[in-house]
Amino acid sequence: MKRTRYNFYLNPHDLYKWTKCPKCDNKTKVRKFCLVIHYQEKSINYHQLLSLNKSCKYCPYCDLLIGQKTDLDTLLAQQIAQTKPQLKFNPENSFVMGTLDRKDWARGQKEILKPQQVLELMYHFKDVWDFEIQPAGWYFDG
Ligand SMILES: [Zn+2]
Repeated sequence: MKRTRYNFYLNPHDLYKWTKCPKCDNKTKVRKFCLVIHYQEKSINYHQLLSLNKSCKYCPYCDLLIGQKTDLDTLLAQQIAQTKPQLKFNPENSFVMGTLDRKDWARGQKEILKPQQVLELMYHFKDVWDFEIQPAGWYFDG
């Protein structure tokens, strides 16, 4: 059975740091999350599951985790440069899949977990939301 946790919004806008929730307008909190990210480079058939322990904005009212795409990509590019230096990082190839419990993330730092193990430990997102910019402000899309 799929385990789920959090709604997710991947914010592509550098300038907007979401001190308030885009959905309910309450103040967001900052929390650390263990994110599982899939990276693939189809041209060389390269697939990799990566994990990041990263501070993200979170709205407890909406159970909404907000990931800042450029921040995540910066960290991903560093990780990939270490494991696969010949690969040119492309932000379009990364996909945030879900989250891990901290203990499972910590285990993955000490030992090599197989992708299948990571997927079994991972929580999928309950839902993925998107928000659109409009001249008068931000609106929930849908
Ligand atoms: Zn909210």
